[in-house]
Amino acid sequence: MNAPDAGILKQWRREFHAFPEIGWSEFVTTAKLIERLEGMGFTVLSGTAVINPAFVRGRVESVVEQGLAAARAHGVSEALLQRMEGLTGCVAIFDSGRPGPTLGLRFDIDCVNVSETTAADHIPRKEGFASTNPGYMHACGHDGHMSIGLGVAQWLVANRDRLKGRVKLLFQPAEEGVRGARPMAESGIVDDVDYFASAHLSFIAASGTVIAGPTGFLCTVKIDLRFKGKPAHAGADPHLGRNALAAACHATTQMLGISRHGKGMTRINVGVLRAGEGRNVVPSTAEMQIEVRGETEEINTYMVDEVMRIARGIATGFDVQLDTEIVGEAVDLTPDAEMVDHVMAVAKENPAIGEVLRSRPLNGSEDATILARRVQAHGGKAVYFVIGADRTAGHHQAEFDFDEKQLVVGVELFAGLIGRLASR
Ligand SMILES: [Zn+2]
Repeated sequence: MNAPDAGILKQWRREFHAFPEIGWSEFVTTAKLIERLEGMGFTVLSGTAVINPAFVRGRVESVVEQGLAAARAHGVSEALLQRMEGLTGCVAIFDSGRPGPTLGLRFDIDCVNVSETTAADHIPRKEGFASTNPGYMHACGHDGHMSIGLGVAQWLVANRDRLKGRVKLLFQPAEEGVRGARPMAESGIVDDVDYFASAHLSFIAASGTVIAGPTGFLCTVKIDLRFKGKPAHAGADPHLGRNALAAACHATTQMLGISRHGKGMTRINVGVLRAGEGRNVVPSTAEMQIEVRGETEEINTYMVDEVMRIARGIATGFDVQLDTEIVGEAVDLTPDAEMVDHVMAVAKENPAIGEVLRSRPLNGSEDATILARRVQAHGGKAVYFVIGADRTAGHHQAEFDFDEKQLVVGVELFAGLIGRLASR
């Protein structure tokens, strides 16, 4: 097995870091991935072949337009943009030419709405690869995930003769806000996958540690609610108006009062409430951005059902119209023990890893779980692991940076897993 090239992995990561793109606008990023992967000889699918538009969550048209404009400014060809059909992300397919299992490996590609720090000692500043897309930053390590994915691609090509079966490398858009996995799953792209794996850099582990099967993935659903009432003169004709602001306020307090579930942990947050048009007008519009979480799918569904029932009741009570939209979702995950065993075995063989843990609670949400569960539902096996990496700040913070030496480890872990599952 030839070792991955640390220099190239670092270079790729830095290139992605310098131009971060927010979910559903990753056109420059997707173009780079497609060009690199095709350059290595992969068949690369994009657009509706890998994203089912009917299940796209939280895709804001103005953000997409902004991404398309950036892509044109960066010289991305019209032909390439046409292949994307307005949808970001891609899937590269490796075929060994020999019968064998199909593996699905998923890497996320989007950034977060964070302005990168201008501190002089921040390595991306000091070494000239800080974000050049103002207001956006790879502050979660997805730049590293893409670099690892490309490293795995390179490893596959170099080790073709040793392998059997097929490997699908999924470069998933819009992980932040847990929006991109559902439409990718609904495209059917993982329905023939026998073994699925995904991973996150850093997060709950430092350099030299691997968590093979973390627990505590919270189910979550992100919901936008819009109440539409009727404006009226607040002095002369208040009785003719229908007050959307009042409806949203009542909905907020009722939702925060939803009974806890006896079987496990729940969360609800009304994060945004915007309403009204002017001081002397009965407010006719109100928008709420809500998220719920639950320890299991049953508990999470309970929270969603409660939110929807309250919203409908309030809409009836205030005689306003209600429009609801699910803009993101993730589920929980129980990894297959056999896959966790494989990750542990591969990690233990790696001299750069000193500590291999079977599990540790994650207490976050990650939409790779949707793809993993889809694979499990079709009889396949799945795992999600954490590649430890030292970092300079918490994820999603302006000072975030991670230990790039762990990119090699990431490639080696995936390569080791492929070796165990698909060697001739
Ligand atoms: Zn992340």
